[in-house]
Amino acid sequence: MTKITLYNTANRQKEPFQPIDPDNVRMYVCGPTVYDRAHLGNARPVVVFDMLFRLLRHVYGADHVTYVRNFTDVDDKINARAAESGRSIRQITDETSQWYLDDMAALGTLEPTHMPRATEWIAQMVAMIEGLIARGHAYETEGHVLFRVRSYKNYGALSGRSVDDMIAGARVEVAPYKEDPMDFVLWKPSNAETPGWDSPWGRGRPGWHIECSAMSYELLGETFDIHGGGNDLQFPHHENEIAQSRCMGHGFARVWLHNEMLQVEGKKMSKSLGNFFTVRDLLDRGVPGEVIRFVFLSTHYRKPMDWTEKKREEGEATLRKWYRMVKDGGTVSEDIISALGDDLNTHGALAVLHRAASDEDGAGLKSGLQFLGLMGDTVPAWAIEGHDDLADLARLLENTRTAAMKTKDFSEVDRLKAALAAAGVEVRMSKSGVDLLPAEGFDPTKLEALK
Ligand SMILES: [Zn+2]
Repeated sequence: MTKITLYNTANRQKEPFQPIDPDNVRMYVCGPTVYDRAHLGNARPVVVFDMLFRLLRHVYGADHVTYVRNFTDVDDKINARAAESGRSIRQITDETSQWYLDDMAALGTLEPTHMPRATEWIAQMVAMIEGLIARGHAYETEGHVLFRVRSYKNYGALSGRSVDDMIAGARVEVAPYKEDPMDFVLWKPSNAETPGWDSPWGRGRPGWHIECSAMSYELLGETFDIHGGGNDLQFPHHENEIAQSRCMGHGFARVWLHNEMLQVEGKKMSKSLGNFFTVRDLLDRGVPGEVIRFVFLSTHYRKPMDWTEKKREEGEATLRKWYRMVKDGGTVSEDIISALGDDLNTHGALAVLHRAASDEDGAGLKSGLQFLGLMGDTVPAWAIEGHDDLADLARLLENTRTAAMKTKDFSEVDRLKAALAAAGVEVRMSKSGVDLLPAEGFDPTKLEALK
């Protein structure tokens, strides 16, 4: 069986991956808060963990991997968006959840096994909060229920910080009803205008962190294999998830994977810098989803990903070239699997495809592209648009060559090749066929005379 090693944030080591139950490998990844289009940075973990999902399915079998990614559909940002637009929270979250699924599908990502919506699991969250109160890890105060951070001695272990350092970081909200400034909200009261559910503490709504602990427990059990997310979630979100679940006596996740952040042209993406864009903005500008995915895969997930115009151009040119070479009948190379098994070395997997392309191994190229989620059964339409002429001419050249093999008169073949070269077309002829690639100085108008 393929060996998989993963870098576990929890102990800062690359270690062999051993599933708890190889018949049911379980992974949880924190999903989006649905109130707007996903920006490009939001898409990075989706592609990273999709690649891991594909690898696990390959190694353990498609029916033996359970992947859960939640939708946070109760949140103050959603409430604000609903209030300003005069629409209901459900309308906002239904619409943006679908946008999310459409945009992520355009990036070639598979849907997770389960995509629970937080609002459909409120009763399970209430039950967990009651359990935490009963165990002395949480307390009710002024309609809120708060988690007592100092009651969990390993708090901060994932991100390697002490509670006192975190307080000094001042990322905590001080409120008079808190026993300690570090304590975080499990439940908060709702007024008449905000969505709320009945609970033992009055009408209210859950805090963000409890949903992942409750839904992962319900769908994956007390202990599961992998928990993933962006490294911006390590603290406080993942620390809080761990504290909640461990204080319920659950083992929770064994391996923690965190991807690094995305930048644009070397700068942090931000609205104020004017370099903020969504996945949909790029797709609408004509950047194919395959190109976005290719650029993402070219950087290891634990390194910052720099999205640049140059990478987009190079990615598109490479994919166009590869798509023109693909052939059926290959199987995915073990070199690709072992690169991915080495802590998801996606760059290494792409290097295998570059080798297949230079070896003119069209079948290996296709199966590799498919494994990496870069193509389906057929070449995407954007990659063949505008080059129908070339496809026709490739067939013409191939037929002419076949005829010339019999007559031993290659003059017509030579004439076609010379004319194609003059039009800026690279001609590749091999036993298995003819490929025509637009090269430097490609001039489609010069092809007219050839037809
Ligand atoms: Zn989460």
